[in-house]
Amino acid sequence: MNYISTRGQAPVLAFDDVVLAGLACDGGLYVPEIWPQLTADALRSLGRLSYPELAARVLAPFAEPAVSEAELALLCEDAYRGFDVRPNPAPLRRLSCGIHLMELFHGPTLAFKDYALQVLGRLFDLVLARRSQRITILGATSGDTGSAAIEACRDRDSLDIFVLHPKGRVSEVQRRQMTTVFSDNVHNIAIDGTFDDCQDLVKALFLDAPFRERFHLAAVNSINWARIAAQIVYYVHAAVSLGTDLRLAFIVPTGNFGNVFAAYGAAQMGIPIETLIVASNRNDILTRFFASGRMEIGSIFSTLSPSMDIQVSSNFERYLFELYDRDAAAVAATMEAFRDTGAFDVGPGRLSRATRTFLAARCDDELTKQTISTIYNEDGLLIDPHTAVGIAAARSADLPADVNRVCIATAHPAKFPDAVEAATGVRPTLPPHLATLMDRPERYSSLPADPAVLRRAIAATLDAKGVTV
Ligand SMILES: *Cc1c(COP(=O)(O)O)cnc(C)c1O
Repeated sequence: MNYISTRGQAPVLAFDDVVLAGLACDGGLYVPEIWPQLTADALRSLGRLSYPELAARVLAPFAEPAVSEAELALLCEDAYRGFDVRPNPAPLRRLSCGIHLMELFHGPTLAFKDYALQVLGRLFDLVLARRSQRITILGATSGDTGSAAIEACRDRDSLDIFVLHPKGRVSEVQRRQMTTVFSDNVHNIAIDGTFDDCQDLVKALFLDAPFRERFHLAAVNSINWARIAAQIVYYVHAAVSLGTDLRLAFIVPTGNFGNVFAAYGAAQMGIPIETLIVASNRNDILTRFFASGRMEIGSIFSTLSPSMDIQVSSNFERYLFELYDRDAAAVAATMEAFRDTGAFDVGPGRLSRATRTFLAARCDDELTKQTISTIYNEDGLLIDPHTAVGIAAARSADLPADVNRVCIATAHPAKFPDAVEAATGVRPTLPPHLATLMDRPERYSSLPADPAVLRRAIAATLDAKGVTV
C-alpha cells in the first residue's frame, strides 16, 4: 500500500516510511491510497482466527509489500502476549440495558492506546533494524499517551524515548505509570508549566531542523497512520464476533478523532457499520460540528475525562479528506482557513452526507457521574469517566431497536479512581501487575519550559549513552 497526504503536496510513501513519518511535509496527514476491501468470504474466514491472527490479516493489506503478513503475524502475537485477558484482549460484555461494552483496557497501561502502540513499538524495531537506523522519540503527554508509548518503546534497541509531562498536572497514577519504568532508553521529564507548554517545546525541537536531523526525531502521536490501522482491528474483531449480518453502531468516546476514525476505516473496508456515535465531554467542538456543519474553536474546559479535553481534533482532517471526495486541494484550503480564522464550514450537502453515518452527543461531568453510578447499580460494574461519556451517548441515542450498540470502554476504572469513587462510593483497585505501583521508586528529571535547556538535556543524555543516530 502507498500513502498520500490529505493536502496533496507531499511525496507518496510506502508503509515503512509512513511508520516513521509524523505529519506530511505539506502539513497534511498520510492516508492509504485506497481502502482495502474485506469481501464477505474474507469476513467469514476471519471468524476462525485468534485476535493476533486477525490483526495480522487486517493489517497486511496496509503494510504489504514493505512488511509481510508473516512478519505481522509474529509481531502481533508478541504485541498482545502481555495483555491480561487471553486469548482475546478485546472482550465484549453485554450490559443489562442491552449495550455491548468492548473492553480495551487490558493492556499494560490500562487504556486503549496500548492496542496500537504495542504494535507500533515493534514496527519501529522491525523497520529500523532493516535500515540499521536509530530514532529519538519525543512526545508530550497530558496523561495516557505517555505511559502507553513508554511501555511500547521500553528496552527497544532502535530508539530512545523522551516524554514531557506538565509537573504536578497529571494524576499520580498516570505519572507513576511513566516514572517507575527504569529502562535505559526511557527518559521522563517534568516540565515547569502546562501541557500546552510541553507541546510547544516538542514543536520547537521538531522545527529545529539541524537538531531534528542530528537525533532523528520521531513522533508517536495519533497522527501516525500505523496507530489508526492497528485500531481498525478491534472494530473488525467486534463485528466478526457479533455477526456481520447484524445491524451495528459503535459509540466512541472521542478527543482527537483517532479512535472513531479507525471505526470509520473499518466501515470503509466493508464492515457493515450503520452508525458511529461521536461522544464528547463538555469540550464539544465535534458535537457542534455534526449539528451545524461548522467547525469552530471554543474555549477549553477541564473535565472528569481529561484525555478528551481537546480543542482541535487532529485526525478529523482524515475524515474531511473523505468528505471532500479526496480533493486534497479543497482540504488544504479548508485547513488553511481554519488555521487563520479558527473556523470552517462544510456546507449543508456535506453535512447531510456526514450525518448519514455520524451522530454526535455531549455529556457533562454531572451526567458522567450519574452514568458511572447507574451502571454500577444496574450491573455491579465500575466504569471509567471516558467510558461513561460513551455510555451516556449510547443510552440517549435515537436508534432503531434492532441496531446493536457497541460502546468502547477506553480506560480501566482504576486509572481514574477519584471520579469513580465519588460516583459510586467504591474505590477501584489496580490489576495485579500494577498493584505495587504506588510503592515503586520513581525516576524523572525536572526542567524549565525552555527549548534551549531541553535541547541541551537531550543531547547530553544521548551523548553520555554514546548513542550515535
Ligand atoms: C486518548 C483517549 C481518548 C480519546 O481518543 P481519541 O483517539 O483521541 O479520540 C478517550 N479515552 C481515553 C481513556 C483516552 O486515553
